[in-house]
Amino acid sequence: MSAVELLADLRRTFQAGTTRPAGWRRAQLEALRRLLTEREDELTGALEEDLGKSRTEGFLSEVAAVRAEIDYALKHLDRWMARERIAVPGGLRPARAWAQARPLGVVLIIGPWNYPLNLVLAPLVGALAAGNAAVLKPSELAASTSRVLARLVPQYLDRDAVAVVEGGVEVSTDLLAQPFDHVFYTGGERVGKIVMKAAAEHLTPVTLELGGKSPAVVVGGDLRAAARRIAYGKFMNAAQTCVAPDYVLTTPAAAPVLADALAAAVRDFYGSDPRTSGDYGRIINEHHFDRVVGLMDGGTVVSGGRHDRADRYIEPTVLREVDPTSALMQEEIFGPLLPILEVEDLDAAIRFIAARPHPLAAYLFSDRDEHLEAFTEQVQAGGLAHNVCTIQLAVPGLPFGGVGASGTGSYHGRQSFRTFSHIQPVFSKPTGVDTLRLAYPPFGPIKRKLLRKLL
Ligand code: NAD
Repeated sequence: MSAVELLADLRRTFQAGTTRPAGWRRAQLEALRRLLTEREDELTGALEEDLGKSRTEGFLSEVAAVRAEIDYALKHLDRWMARERIAVPGGLRPARAWAQARPLGVVLIIGPWNYPLNLVLAPLVGALAAGNAAVLKPSELAASTSRVLARLVPQYLDRDAVAVVEGGVEVSTDLLAQPFDHVFYTGGERVGKIVMKAAAEHLTPVTLELGGKSPAVVVGGDLRAAARRIAYGKFMNAAQTCVAPDYVLTTPAAAPVLADALAAAVRDFYGSDPRTSGDYGRIINEHHFDRVVGLMDGGTVVSGGRHDRADRYIEPTVLREVDPTSALMQEEIFGPLLPILEVEDLDAAIRFIAARPHPLAAYLFSDRDEHLEAFTEQVQAGGLAHNVCTIQLAVPGLPFGGVGASGTGSYHGRQSFRTFSHIQPVFSKPTGVDTLRLAYPPFGPIKRKLLRKLL
């Protein structure tokens, strides 16, 4: 079926009102939940094939993460759908005013390869909760997950309202040429611009969930604990995580201690040869393997550094003596290299971050309240976290998205519902006595005086 026909079919469903009732939305969310529970093995198996992702990590960061979004949406849906009463100024009374969330229509969700299940289905939770029809376009680079989604989604969800379209650039381009009512894109900046341009042709609103270089600043507290939390947030999914700390900024005194502690944390998590650990992932493809290995010469490797192209394996690697002008520090690493850069203090770290495009996330490790306060007030990033990294995404009530170069719009929890809704205002006045007549022309001196008094 062509993209034009597919959109026409889904639009018919939407216009027939099928997706509007709360009952349909709940039934779809519950069906999606069943899909995740009943087919967990197939889903985590596909993630393992695509990214060498351990079944436990696949369960935690993809299956359970989407299920948590569904449960949160089911719990709050009635409140989200309820009309919000708005106060009416005295001069316009008697009247009522309210804001109500309406679905946008048929939305397009384009996913990336790094969390290929989560980043297609978590937006879908918002789209369904808000009562939309949707087309899902998973990443062709995570081919097994794309296939399993294309097979399972139609078995569980309403086929007249949700479709999965598989394919690469050509298919994406074709879909983007259609007048969808919203495009939700997760991926890199380069394609983000293509998506935004294509959407502009139809004045279609977009959400762009992009990436960037997210810093972790370490200026105090227990360095070993910080190292474990950073190693965890960085090296899960072989560091192919949009909010993973891209680099570390720390003081000259802390840098060597932190580097040792990071190496120790990697050993604790994955053993002395992470390649043999069932819990450590692989790079998605040779192209990205070559790219990440090529970044290594931007600094001195102080731990890790081993790699094997045939296995798409790159060891968790810590670097020091980093050249800030190297590609390692110019592009998003999106792989298991962690450069440590030295700065004098927190103020210097904040200046370093401010001199670069706004990151998707920024992390501060410190036990001093004044540090937390200064960082929170001064750093502009999609999201901030104190003394942890990456796991802030597991709080469904927190909106997730970028700012500036790291993205436009946000989702998760209620924000997902709002992203896929139009908040429609309604102003309703009864007929009968015309209380507005004071404002009608002609405006004589008495009316003018009265109006000035009243307003
Ligand atoms: P990708 O190559 O899988 O591309 C993403 C999607 O865009 C795919 O579905 C692909 O088919 C489509 N696409 C690719 N080229 C296209 C084109 N020319 N026209 C139209 N569509 C096209 O993924 P990627 O871009 O390599 O993803 C990695 C990036 O995504 C990183 O920058 C990462 O930080 C970012 N990311 C962001 C988030 C987030 O939630 N903010 C999450 C994950 C990844």
